[in-house]
Amino acid sequence: MKIAILGAGFSGLTAGYELAKAGYQVEIFEKAAQVAGAAGGFKRPGWDWYLDYTYHHCFTNEHEILDLAKEIGFANFLKMRPETASLYLNKQQPDNNDNPLFQYLFGQHTKSYKLDSAHDLLRFERLPLLDRLRTGLVLALLKFGPKLNYYDKTLAKDFLTTTMGRKANQELWEPLFLKKFQHYYHQINLGFFWARLRRTPDLSYPPGGYQALANQLALKTKKLGAKIYLKTEIKNIKLDKKQFILTGPSQQFRANKLINTLQTPLFLKIGGMILPTSYRRRLQKIEYLGAHNIIFASRQKVLPKTYWLSLATPASRQNPGSNYMVAVQQTNFVPAKHYHHQHLLYLATYTNKPKLFTLKDKKLAEEYRIIQQAYLKYGQPLYTPEFVKNKPDYLTPVPNLYFANMELTYPYDRGTNQAVRCGQQVAQKMIK
Ligand SMILES: Cc1cc2nc3c(=O)[nH]c(=O)nc-3n(C[C@H](O)[C@H](O)[C@H](O)COP(=O)(O)OP(=O)(O)OC[C@H]3O[C@@H](n4cnc5c(N)ncnc54)[C@H](O)[C@@H]3O)c2cc1C
Repeated sequence: MKIAILGAGFSGLTAGYELAKAGYQVEIFEKAAQVAGAAGGFKRPGWDWYLDYTYHHCFTNEHEILDLAKEIGFANFLKMRPETASLYLNKQQPDNNDNPLFQYLFGQHTKSYKLDSAHDLLRFERLPLLDRLRTGLVLALLKFGPKLNYYDKTLAKDFLTTTMGRKANQELWEPLFLKKFQHYYHQINLGFFWARLRRTPDLSYPPGGYQALANQLALKTKKLGAKIYLKTEIKNIKLDKKQFILTGPSQQFRANKLINTLQTPLFLKIGGMILPTSYRRRLQKIEYLGAHNIIFASRQKVLPKTYWLSLATPASRQNPGSNYMVAVQQTNFVPAKHYHHQHLLYLATYTNKPKLFTLKDKKLAEEYRIIQQAYLKYGQPLYTPEFVKNKPDYLTPVPNLYFANMELTYPYDRGTNQAVRCGQQVAQKMIK
């Protein structure tokens, strides 16, 4: 029996690894020239680690990816609690970060507030004390309570405003939701918010980068007998006498079973016609935002201590950085020695209308070189109550067609650990 897998991101690679381990004949088809998908990375001369095209880390309670890494001989993840903070406008008491790129991106009137513990929340002066206490209590109840079905149907903004207060929602959550989900922010449900609270402030990072981890997983999978076809975009899928026929760039492949790890809108373009009409219509309702990431390399750090800086500053023409969601100083987590002693900063946001970022100031552009700009069209599913009704499951109405893409990880936000779990679960279902 031949099993075909669409996509060699962490989900497809893990499914392939598990199935090959169980003795199945597996073929993985990948459009790109390398494995790793959305977690892929690149190296530049003098670097001994890959850098992810889009910032990545995992949380220390994400056991599936950590255990799998250990199993394939890839232990020794970096572990750290790097500083995370949120940046706000504050004309009265600005921080005075005089880094020239920081000033260009965010202006002079900003202050960053460390916000990664209960203690930080209690000291968050932008909220009256009573609101801080109320917010802390609600967060604790959500964090230590189970996931309820009610969360799927409830809008996060309504719940947070009612329970924590209008001011707490406006100051703490709305700016982050707005940047992550753009004009869809008011449709995001509480299930997504609940799952975010399970994250730990301690972070992990694979030695060599996510690309190195994916390369090792691909190597082990191939050693078990699986085939991985790179630069092989599947352009069409048909069903013929219970076999799937996949049309690649120059040849056709046949398989008895098919696992799709592509985001649903991508699958619908090539294989939508094999689905029953009602199911296809349901899947067509799934919506995504794209992810835009810019990487600056420089001799100086832009953020002195903070690794993750959420940008709660309002969008502005004058300060172009404020239109983005987050600034991540990679080298406040992974040592700069792995990147030839260059400091690396991501500036990123989610959007369906990416604009090429340019630094108009020539001197600044020489000092802070933009070394990568990447746009991933299907970067973030929109977790709305509609999404919960329409999202696919591992099993589909088409016999022997399975889904294992990033939509299945709900209520947890998509991530490499969730992709690994998804790959493992689809393999288990198939083996059963
Ligand atoms: C901005 C951003 C930040 C993130 N940060 C983190 C983070 O900090 N930590 C974390 O754990 N996760 C993070 N993630 C999420 C993580 O990258 C993804 O959830 C995970 O990599 C998804 O893996 P996947 O295998 O499900 O899908 P993908 O990685 O998308 O794999 C699908 C594969 O299918 C291939 N493909 C597409 N079309 C075809 C075709 N027609 N034929 C053949 N192949 C095709 C693609 O090239 C791709 O390789 C982030 C994602 C984004 C966008």
